[in-house]
Amino acid sequence: MGEGSKKCTKCGEVRLLKEFHRSNKVKSGRRSECVECARVYREANKERSRLYKKEYREINKEQIKIKKKAYRMANKEKISDRNKVWRAANCEEIKERKKYYRTINRAFVNNKKREYYRENRKDILRNWKQNKHKWRGSIVSSQARYRAKKLNAYPSWADKGLRLQIRKVYDNCPEGYQVDHIVPLQGRNVSGLHVPWNLQYLTVKENMSKGNKFDQS
Ligand SMILES: [Zn+2]
Repeated sequence: MGEGSKKCTKCGEVRLLKEFHRSNKVKSGRRSECVECARVYREANKERSRLYKKEYREINKEQIKIKKKAYRMANKEKISDRNKVWRAANCEEIKERKKYYRTINRAFVNNKKREYYRENRKDILRNWKQNKHKWRGSIVSSQARYRAKKLNAYPSWADKGLRLQIRKVYDNCPEGYQVDHIVPLQGRNVSGLHVPWNLQYLTVKENMSKGNKFDQS
């Protein structure tokens, strides 16, 4: 037996060292059975090994969770890079999967909602009547946003922050007042934007008499 070879304890053949799997559990650094014998063993015990692994995972659930988390914390950048590469390579597939997921879920969620509504119709309606005033700002502001979008008066750079600012204006509208666009969205000469600094409170009467007029003086 030369330096670079050893005898397999299973099949008894003398083989090159590279034909034995590496292992840091044995002194020699190589497993005692050859690659081929290991493969045969794996094949023969596939099912048993699967069950064993499953059971192991089940028993050690908590430890595995902790270990995985520690690994993620220690390798944040590596993982994020790997994910980026993977996403880039699979971008079409991901898109398809997301689309599928949305459709499936939309149907599921809508069904649940419908079911809930059918069962609780009376309570929902009563609740709605009692609390309508609380949602008034939200309803009116989303209607206003919808209208502004149609008139191309909703800025393209608007983000969530701006939307919330506008919402606040509508939420805080005093009783008997309406939110008015200082420069109308659809003015005769100039058109304003649906932004917080173009909003003011007017009484219903003032608002009616103002119409789409904007005094430019
Ligand atoms: Zn062997």
